[in-house]
Amino acid sequence: MASIANKTDEQLIVEKHISNLHNGFAHWPRAEEAPPALGDSRWTQDLILATWLMAETGQVPDNGLEYKIGASGGGFDVLDFNIPNQDQWLSEDTEIDLSLPLNRRDDGAQLKINIPMYGGGMSYGSISEHVMQARARAAQHLGTFTSTGEGGYPPSLVPYKDHIITQVATGMFGVREETIQYAPIVEFKYAQGAKPGLGGHLLGDKATSAVAAMRESVPWVSLFSPFPFHSVYSVEDHRKHVDWIRTTNPRALVSVKVSTPTDVDMVAVGSYFAGAHIVHLDGSYGGTGAAPEIAKKNIAMPIEFAIPKVHKYLVSENVREEVTLMASGGVRTAYDVAKAIALGADGCVMGTAELIAIGCTRCSNCERGRGCPFGLTTTDPLLQQLMPADWGQQRIINMYNAYAIQLRDLLRKLGLRSIRELRGRRDLLKYVG
Ligand code: SF4
Repeated sequence: MASIANKTDEQLIVEKHISNLHNGFAHWPRAEEAPPALGDSRWTQDLILATWLMAETGQVPDNGLEYKIGASGGGFDVLDFNIPNQDQWLSEDTEIDLSLPLNRRDDGAQLKINIPMYGGGMSYGSISEHVMQARARAAQHLGTFTSTGEGGYPPSLVPYKDHIITQVATGMFGVREETIQYAPIVEFKYAQGAKPGLGGHLLGDKATSAVAAMRESVPWVSLFSPFPFHSVYSVEDHRKHVDWIRTTNPRALVSVKVSTPTDVDMVAVGSYFAGAHIVHLDGSYGGTGAAPEIAKKNIAMPIEFAIPKVHKYLVSENVREEVTLMASGGVRTAYDVAKAIALGADGCVMGTAELIAIGCTRCSNCERGRGCPFGLTTTDPLLQQLMPADWGQQRIINMYNAYAIQLRDLLRKLGLRSIRELRGRRDLLKYVG
């Protein structure tokens, strides 16, 4: 190890900040006093601290922190499970299966994930390369996936390519033949629930030379992904997209990410008939600090309304068993995952929870200046060092391990032996608002 005398001022400053940050994330969840100004009604102070604790220990919080719900007064926060009497619970040694097959059609690879969750798209440029590496390595360890988002595929991710979803969105940034050929799953992003109709945007301050090169653009110029795909106005157009992917990579599964307009059930069925293996519903509560507040709160349908609407329609069209329905947009906890599945989803796509695990405080500075003060949603070479990939990888793994403990415990108490048995069991939910 280099001695202090051999280190640059920059190295010493980074090391000092990393040490302080990591000590802080370990200290605050168990501190007597509350930290200053942390959280909001959806991601409450308790939920953030509980997620930090799970990321630290891999265990369910045991110190009174509320780790199941927030304080929004709606959505998943006013749903709970009808837990039967203890004599109906399965025994503690019962094997509970959390795995989820992603391909229910008779074409493409038969992919299965070990937990009913995978990581959502966050692009190179919106987050640091270290965060991408941490997410990819965690996905590999857990036997699940993460998504590139729309910003290209840094070479450092190639070793984890069997666990990385390639996203294709309207700007086509970083979409290359080889990244489609790498991909076990290709995700078309038609819209995001946090900002439907607004497309994507990366502000110029974050478009460094490396980011611009990956996106085949010019450094320090803002980049916009327009809405919608102007090549897709019908199921037949959509089918052409699917055919393009199948021609380039016949084994890849095709996922279609859509927001939740009122006719989302029709969109889902149309996506199925166009050839999609996965329909990914993205509801209105999600998004990082980069999504405008006015859009996050006012445009798309909340995910807890969209899931049962789509599930029921897929059942009525006799195609429910042939398509995988994934839900995202404000799924914050293991209990949110279970509630989404009980409403009719097969599994969930996680975004913000992974960022919280590696130190996000929900401060909403993702798109200001050089981005995140904790080194997450930034491309600044110095700032991104604050979140080393190996540290982040372990925190994400730990968080999902704690989720898995909670899901298995809940299923056991509900008398279910697999997460797949929970799908559509709305009778197990109750309103507690
Ligand atoms: S901590 Fe970073 S990632 Fe989280 S909201 Fe703030 S700027 Fe965005």
